[in-house]
Amino acid sequence: MVCLSDGKYETEVKLVLQEVSNADPTEVAKEFERYENEFLIPPRDALRSVVRKFMEPGSDADKTVSQPAIVAKKVTRFSELGSNDRNVSIEVLVSSYNSRLQQVRGEERNIGFGFIEDSPWEGDRTKWEYKDWGNKAQDLLPNSIVRLEGVSVNEWNGKKSININQTSRVSVLKEGSGTPPVPTSEPITIEQASKGESTVSVVARVISVKPDQIVKRDGSGTIDVVRGRVGDQTGSIGFLSWKALEVKEGDLVKIENAQVKRFRETPEINIGDYTKIEPYHDGAFPTKDDIQQESKSTIMSLRDGQRDVDIDLQVVDWTVRTFTTKEGESREVRSGEVQDPSGRCRLTSWAKVDLQPGSFIRIQNARVQAWQGSPDLVTDGPDQIVVLDEAPFGPIDSSNHWVTEDLDVLTSGGSRRGISTTGRIVSVRSDSGIILRCTKEGCRRVLRDGMCGEHGEVEGSEDLRLMMVIDSGVSNASLLVSREPSESVIGESFQGISERIRANGPEPFMSELKERFLGRRVTVNGRSINDDRGCMIQAESLVVVETNPVEIAESVIERWEVVL
Ligand SMILES: [Zn+2]
Repeated sequence: MVCLSDGKYETEVKLVLQEVSNADPTEVAKEFERYENEFLIPPRDALRSVVRKFMEPGSDADKTVSQPAIVAKKVTRFSELGSNDRNVSIEVLVSSYNSRLQQVRGEERNIGFGFIEDSPWEGDRTKWEYKDWGNKAQDLLPNSIVRLEGVSVNEWNGKKSININQTSRVSVLKEGSGTPPVPTSEPITIEQASKGESTVSVVARVISVKPDQIVKRDGSGTIDVVRGRVGDQTGSIGFLSWKALEVKEGDLVKIENAQVKRFRETPEINIGDYTKIEPYHDGAFPTKDDIQQESKSTIMSLRDGQRDVDIDLQVVDWTVRTFTTKEGESREVRSGEVQDPSGRCRLTSWAKVDLQPGSFIRIQNARVQAWQGSPDLVTDGPDQIVVLDEAPFGPIDSSNHWVTEDLDVLTSGGSRRGISTTGRIVSVRSDSGIILRCTKEGCRRVLRDGMCGEHGEVEGSEDLRLMMVIDSGVSNASLLVSREPSESVIGESFQGISERIRANGPEPFMSELKERFLGRRVTVNGRSINDDRGCMIQAESLVVVETNPVEIAESVIERWEVVL
């Protein structure tokens, strides 16, 4: 048993308290201890989960921190800031200043944005994004060092940034380069442009261009826009133009003063009033066909928010589903599993396209939409799917088509289907076994003390699942094993397990699970889901590949210095 007063978790507790200033240090330390002892997760890796726990809505910490803080918080580093901090003072280096017109409460306003770096005078710097809502461009010249007062922290999708508000004060401590924030017109490659979010100039070939409409958020109508894709020898990128364009497919153009913005996980070039587009001449520039061939996607490369995806696939299965819209209309949607040599994903078609399992198809201009955390392909028109006469790649055995991937790659990349990975089980969670699920239609939430988070007290139906933590030695992920693969790996039916638990209580079954899995190396086939809660592997099948648990468990215990 760890004695909490010996300060074993002192550093981590401090970090948690920076985020959640009113949490009880003893409780926080206890939580780290629980992660280390019960889940075998070292404090460094448990940090994010512990912070989240103490910031949970309705918790005491949440109630306190969500009250407006009036006291100024003076910090020197971004790392000292929590997502609820208001009235912050900090000295920063301005690394960039861009601006764009944005609708703010029905009014068109010029909003500044860019990057600032903390610790401007010495030491390592951390870069954060900022937004200038207060029209302070004159005081935020690139390369200047400024003191920001009365700014606030904004957190979106787990990423923190600084809001400079109209009431904030900006004092210039060291003059900037003096150059007004105009972007360089020196062209960069599409690959470079895709990396950041800034003002860019590129020379690129138009691969596709078509008119489109954007529905205004307030429902007051639509805005005519032009969408398309441009590319060079380093890749291709989608664009969105807010003004009419005089370009056609195949044109080579120089685009100056355009903004790269991110839509979900995908960069996009935004063309606005200030963007200049002119014809460009270069006889050696790759043709449209060359670029298109080069920028063909694979399932592995799909990311949420992508558009204009061209990809060759094999159909695994295909079904039609009928549903009723909110307006009471009956609609059909078609979808199925598809694969290529790099993996599997779902394809949804809103057009009436009937596909045969086993057939090969070419998809053009598809979009990618995350569904349950995994990027899936969506097509809207019938001409986006072409059935191929010849296979674009060799045969794939769909019953055993798993792409082997390192757990470390899965925990740091996008969500993936059809993956196989190996790691060691370092924790069998106590909520493994027979659980009760909500029986309300469309809801399968796990009940806690007979309560559904959405529907309150409901009658539950029994289900079997295993919740574990799989670890590569570098990173770890939650591992969820649903009923069928659980039955298969345990070698016993759900009914059998349920009866045993009813007869003997849950403890013997839990210790049996620990004996069977804890410390063992397993190979999992399934999918990985990466979101702000970390990485979860959903197993479609699970096999134990090492069978000498005593030794292995000892080595795990030694590594994490855990006392069980
Ligand atoms: Zn429910």
